[in-house]
Amino acid sequence: MCLGCGVRAPKSSLVRFTAVPRDGRLALVHDDDGSLGGRGLYTCASRGCFERAAQRRAFPRAARTAVVVDESLADGIGDGGMVSGA
Ligand SMILES: [Zn+2]
Repeated sequence: MCLGCGVRAPKSSLVRFTAVPRDGRLALVHDDDGSLGGRGLYTCASRGCFERAAQRRAFPRAARTAVVVDESLADGIGDGGMVSGA
C-alpha cells in the first residue's frame, strides 16, 4: 500500500524504502530490490506520493519508530524511474 495516497498495488509496482541506522538515528533510504531487508515502506513511483507521505509522517508511523526522511529522496522518484545508488 502506498503511504502517500493509500492505493493498494502490487509491491512490484511500488517504490520500496526502508529505515537503516545512520549517525545514531534511523534514516529512510531507497531499497528498491529489497536487499536491505527490514520493514518495507512503500509509495507509488510518484514524487507527489512520497512528499505526501513525508508530510503526513507516514514513514515513521509505518515503521513504528522515529525515521529521518531526507526529502531529496523524492528527487529519484517518478518521471522515468529511480536513480540507483544510495
Ligand atoms: Zn500513491
